This record gives sequence, C-alpha cells and structure tokens, in this order.
Amino acid sequence: MKRYHMGIDVGGTKVAYGLFDEEGGLLVRHQQATPLDIDGPGLCDQLLAGIDDVLDMHGIGHGDLEGVGIGMPSFILYEQGYILATSALVNICQFAMRDYLAQRLDFPVFLDNDSNAAALAEYRFGAGRGSRHMIYMSASTGLGSGLILNGQLFRGTYGWAGESGHMLITPDAGVACGCGNRGCFMSWASGRYLPEQIRRIAQGRETVMDLGPTLDGTALHEACRRGDAVAMEALDQLAHYMAICLFNIYQLLNVNLFVFGGGLTHFGGMLFDRVRREFDRYDHMHMPVNFRIAELERDFGIIGAAELVRHDG
Ligand SMILES: [Zn+2]
Repeated sequence: MKRYHMGIDVGGTKVAYGLFDEEGGLLVRHQQATPLDIDGPGLCDQLLAGIDDVLDMHGIGHGDLEGVGIGMPSFILYEQGYILATSALVNICQFAMRDYLAQRLDFPVFLDNDSNAAALAEYRFGAGRGSRHMIYMSASTGLGSGLILNGQLFRGTYGWAGESGHMLITPDAGVACGCGNRGCFMSWASGRYLPEQIRRIAQGRETVMDLGPTLDGTALHEACRRGDAVAMEALDQLAHYMAICLFNIYQLLNVNLFVFGGGLTHFGGMLFDRVRREFDRYDHMHMPVNFRIAELERDFGIIGAAELVRHDG
C-alpha cells in the first residue's frame, strides 16, 4: 500500500522535508543546510540521503511512497524536469534533475518552481480554498506568482508562467536584476533589490537607517515605524511597483483573488494598505478584487511540494 507522499522545499540556504499521510497530515518534518555553491548532482545526492532519513524516522520504506514532490527556486522545463537556472543556487543550472533522481528512485518524482508549489498549497489548504481562480504572489527575496486557473495550476508552454517579477516595467532603466535585464518588477519590488533601491533614494539625505551591508526589509520596516522620510519613500515606491504588477496581472487574467506569501508580508497593513490604494487608483471598473495574506505558515513549501504528487500524479 502506497499511503504516503513526501514534499521537499529547496531554498537558498536549507532544504525542508515533510512526510504526509493520505489525508495530507504532516507526520515527519526534517531540515538540512544547503551550501550556496552546491551543484545539481551534489544537491540530488543530498536529497537522496535526506529522503532515506525521513523514511527511516517513520519506519517505512521506498515501497510505501506514492511519490516525492520538489519545489525549487528555479526556471524549470516542467515536462522534462530540467533545471535551466536557479537564482539563489547559481551552480544548479542546465541540469536534468528529475532524470538524475528517477534513475536512483523507484517512485515518481515531481519537480516544479517553488511559487507554483506554494500556490497549490494555499489553493488546497489555505487562503484560496473554495475559489475557482487564484493568483499566489510571493513577496519575498524575489517577486513571483503561481497561477491557479479553473482549479488547475497553469504553467504555460515551458513551465514558468507566473514569473511576473521579471515582467519589464522600466526597460533598461533602474537596478540590474539577475534575470539579465534592468527594470523588471523584481528589481523595484523585492527583498533582494530593496537595499539598492533604498540607497538610491537616500543619496544626499538624512536617514536613521544604516546603509551598510545589514540593510534589509527588517531595517526598512523599523525605520518606517519611526517615521523616517527616506524609509517611507522607499516603502511607497515598493508598494507602487507591487500594485502595478498586480494591476497588470488583473488586466491580463481578470482573476480577483490575490494571496500574498513571503517575508514582505511581515509589513502587514503598512505595506498592503498602500498597495491597495495604488491598485484602486488605477482600477476604474470597481469590481471586487480580494487581497489576502497566505494562511499556511512555515510549512507551505513542503505542503505545496507534496501537493504536486496529488495534483500531477
Ligand atoms: Zn528580473
């Protein structure tokens, strides 16, 4: 009896594992550190050992697993299970990851982008429950989305539908993004490029923020609470570009439910009230558009990865 499935969430610094029963109950949670310079085969060998560790913890074997789903911060050719590029782990690129794993495992492996996995998790168990369409927005180190259309994850032709963060808004102008372009939404509205944006705004001005290497979203949040003018301008700019990104997606797909996950959600109303105001400023149709914060907390990555097995298996 194959009664279990596993979800693995590969992040920039750690790998999280979850073993789930038929009803989606989380039985075992496990974590490993990932070296930043790890390559594809290195990561896979670590995953193979991790999978065995998790099965051992619950006293079951490979034959009990229906499959493993893996969420990666990568551009993936979905059908082939082939990694083109990975933003946080740059040595994991041009790699036939699913084949590598499948040759060493006797159950199916499902490999997808982490925003897609998170979208599935929120759609099945979180803030998107009961809706027909839903856009998951990851507002974190990066900016990206997962599209649920008619109850199904929409991946597009190659697999990266929803990479909204790399849509261009100020082409060739602004901060250079790892995608190879200047002026994509991510360069204006993501944790990774926030420090560069704050430094640009702070030029020649007084601010309570330390503009050195410790500058991040948390520092911005604290400075906003203290009413720092530079920080408030940076927050307004972040909200502005996030709202335009959402507005453009809304115009393209006309989906009226956006679910936000990721570290920037810690700003709460301070950020999202501004995003709402900016969105409403451009929306002249005035039909209901719902903004919700993701409901699943730290386990959304493993829940979504495990859900890949049930969605696609
Ligand atoms: Zn980009």
